[in-house]
Amino acid sequence: MPAWLRVKTGKASLTRKTRELLRGCGVCTVCEEAHCPNIGECYCSGTATFMILGETCTRDCRFCAVKHGQPAPPDPEEPARIADAAARLGLEFVVLTCVTRDDLPDGGAGQFVATIEALRERIPAVGIEVLTSDFGGDLSPLRSVLRAEPTVYNHNVETVRRLQPIVRPQADYERSLGILRAARGNVAPGTIIKSGLMVGLGETPEEIAETLGDIAEAGCSVVTIGQYLRPSPEHLPVARYIPPEEFAEFEQMGLARGLRRVLSGPFVRSSYHAAETAAELAGS
Ligand code: SF4
Repeated sequence: MPAWLRVKTGKASLTRKTRELLRGCGVCTVCEEAHCPNIGECYCSGTATFMILGETCTRDCRFCAVKHGQPAPPDPEEPARIADAAARLGLEFVVLTCVTRDDLPDGGAGQFVATIEALRERIPAVGIEVLTSDFGGDLSPLRSVLRAEPTVYNHNVETVRRLQPIVRPQADYERSLGILRAARGNVAPGTIIKSGLMVGLGETPEEIAETLGDIAEAGCSVVTIGQYLRPSPEHLPVARYIPPEEFAEFEQMGLARGLRRVLSGPFVRSSYHAAETAAELAGS
């Protein structure tokens, strides 16, 4: 690992306290399921990104550590548990992500809506970012999530167009852009639309520039760009560790293409500084 990829672990006792609270509430976090490198820092500061709809995904993206298989039906108690965990952590801004549920007729949209409602009931002034799947390209579940008026709607393209079949074989670049464009046409005024991608999978700078242009054209104002890290030997290898100065160039590339915020750095992940970014954009 290059020097710039040394992970900050955070104070073990604080990390443990958050982990125990989350376990006690019976909720899943993408921080643990996806082996996020920022987990020590986030848990230490008492924050986490929740993962709804269980912990088993119907897809098998080649970069992702989340387990795949046949998931259980959505748990009707899960929204209340998430709201309880968020309240106990004292969160004022909550990020909800999910496993992809191609097995459900609504793709899991109903569980998103129920979780948003449970959070608002428990923490009335809460800000909420949702990071959804592509719903198989079905716009009806997308619209129902957007009718619940999240503060931020996020859907990741994950990688450049050429690498999609290798990196996320059950997804599709154009389908993801279609979801983002449809979000633009259906969001409440003021809702921020966001996307993200990983680098270090073998993409070229020209392909990154093209992707940032496509994301901006689809209606996003925020993008996150981070280094791909291989979760296990069964996953795709890292093609290259991108140095910090190239991440700074990607930020300029994105801003030049009309994005309002480009969070770009080796450890940037979808929910990186999500609350701060939403607050900045709401106030600008
Ligand atoms: S759809 Fe999401 S959770 Fe499922 S394997 Fe792909 S990245 Fe992981």
